[in-house]
Amino acid sequence: MQENNKITDMLLKKLDTKKPFLSLEYFPPKTDTGTHNLFARIEKMTRLNPLFADVTWGAGGSNKNSSSLDISEVISDYFRIPVLQHVTGRGETKESMSKILDKLISLKIKNVLLLRGDAPSSTQDNDSGDFAYAIDLVRFVREKYGDAFSIGVAGYPEGHFESGGVSECVQHLKRKVDAGADFVLTQIFFDANIFNQFIDRCRTAGIVCPILPGIMPIHAYQRFLKIAKSCNLAVPNNVAENLEKYKKNDALVKEYGINQCTEMCNRLIESGNYGLHFYTLNLQTSVEAVAQNLGLGSEKDRALPWSACTSQVRKKEEVRPIFWSNNPQSYLARTNDWDDFPNGRWGDSRSPTFGAMNRYYNLRGKTFNKAKKEEKRKEQWSNLKTEHDFFSLFGRFAAGEAEDFPWSTTGIHAETIDITPELIELNHKGLLTINSQPQVNGLRSSDPIFGWGGQDGYVYQKAYLEFFCSAKHLKTILSFAKNKKSVSLNAYSASGLQFEANNQESRVNAITWGVFYGKEIIQPTIVDKASFKIWKNEAFEKWDQEITPLFPEDSIGKAISEKIAAEYFLVNIVENDYVQGSLLQDLLEIL
Ligand SMILES: Cc1cc2nc3c(=O)[nH]c(=O)nc-3n(C[C@H](O)[C@H](O)[C@H](O)COP(=O)(O)OP(=O)(O)OC[C@H]3O[C@@H](n4cnc5c(N)ncnc54)[C@H](O)[C@@H]3O)c2cc1C
Repeated sequence: MQENNKITDMLLKKLDTKKPFLSLEYFPPKTDTGTHNLFARIEKMTRLNPLFADVTWGAGGSNKNSSSLDISEVISDYFRIPVLQHVTGRGETKESMSKILDKLISLKIKNVLLLRGDAPSSTQDNDSGDFAYAIDLVRFVREKYGDAFSIGVAGYPEGHFESGGVSECVQHLKRKVDAGADFVLTQIFFDANIFNQFIDRCRTAGIVCPILPGIMPIHAYQRFLKIAKSCNLAVPNNVAENLEKYKKNDALVKEYGINQCTEMCNRLIESGNYGLHFYTLNLQTSVEAVAQNLGLGSEKDRALPWSACTSQVRKKEEVRPIFWSNNPQSYLARTNDWDDFPNGRWGDSRSPTFGAMNRYYNLRGKTFNKAKKEEKRKEQWSNLKTEHDFFSLFGRFAAGEAEDFPWSTTGIHAETIDITPELIELNHKGLLTINSQPQVNGLRSSDPIFGWGGQDGYVYQKAYLEFFCSAKHLKTILSFAKNKKSVSLNAYSASGLQFEANNQESRVNAITWGVFYGKEIIQPTIVDKASFKIWKNEAFEKWDQEITPLFPEDSIGKAISEKIAAEYFLVNIVENDYVQGSLLQDLLEIL
């Protein structure tokens, strides 16, 4: 489990740099599919380098909040972003609150935003509980848990709707801070002056801790009106006038929202407010557009040919075996305990330390809609009746026509288009292809399909193909490989029978590399015998655990699936001649 950094320490350090940064709020979606989509967005939004991500807590402190904790756990463990967990006191007793906080400690989440919470709209107001106000919760946490948590509280630049105005709210905020809060996140607002005046009042009142402004780009007209009304927010005249002009055109409202928000953020930054806290509403585009306008986050170019780990500790990682290029989650799960990536190199000691796919891996999958996924898979697989039906299905996967390919969680890469016809044909001939890359001889690193690593360089790749095939096919391919010096081959059966051809002494073969101005050559993808041995277990297990159970008992399809799992070989081939090689055509000729 990821050790979560305390936000207070990071905030103070970051604010000292006087450079703008952001943090992102998400809320737990109602459905599993929504959660799945949210994870994909969070992953993409990691390129904005958020200092932390916070996850809201359901109104009224309902039991539904296990999904909030699940999401926080994934953000912390998988995306390695420090999490700020919202917790509301409404309706909770000291005992029930202790359970929540103990759970957070067990998840190593060390940051909480302590709130009173509002009554859930659909149920009766539940005021019974030990925490009448957020301050009671702050006191309780400090008394019982000492410094175990970094504590944030809410502030209201325009006053809270129940309070007698901003001055009263500032006094209450001061008491919350005096009781032990470390930082403040504010309610949203649409005018930088409102926030700047609030900051002045807070500082005058003696509140010295960091106060992050709550920012929300206007995404849609009706939604904006609803939020502004329910939170009692002032809508500046110019904003109201512009929205009136654009309200019938969703795209224009969104564009205006991005511009208005960018302008407001620039004003906040000019006034020395470097930390911007975005209420994302689980939406990506507007927040990303604002961040880009402000020059926040990393470049959009692919940094490496595979999706990099979002963890700070793994930023130096530059090399991975190609076998997991389409399965980043299981790779990260297996290597989660590796905390050292010296110079980003694939060290000799690495492969034997591959771990099992632990809880960390399952966690990310647990909210996915498994029943639906299985139903869809059954539709695709359970009617297959001949070996050739299996070949055709793999051909469809290679063509990108069928979703949910068990051997790839990322889908088909754009570069595969160059070799799709050959892949389909090879599948029809009985090679069940699961991974491939075309050869590339010095394309610009900015190439939209093959490029990675930034603008100033050239990229190269050796042709690579990985597939399951029968012993008969392996025999033919092996004799071809043995006669062709430029081709290296590794093959394993599930039971461990092994064959190979033309592997050099060194066990690592770099198959993707890039040459960049003024840098060492980077070789991000390799083929390596020892890690292939680990990967083949994972690849064969998919037949036993995910495919064979899809077929009815005693069906022909089930028998074929079992036969493939037991008798086929998993093979990888590299054509080392990346200038003149013709791997796929050669295979088509000999089969
Ligand atoms: C950044 C942010 C995140 C939020 N996240 C969530 C969330 O995840 N889930 C959720 O349900 N809600 C959330 N809310 C909404 C919040 O729970 C409500 O606004 C709630 O009404 C007030 O919570 P609070 O923590 O500010 O309460 P408090 O600080 O307790 O204030 C509540 C009201 O009581 C007044 N008050 C405070 N102390 C006293 C006192 N001693 N005597 C009399 N009056 C007092 C305050 O002025 C205020 O009007 C969030 C709000 C913000 C700004």
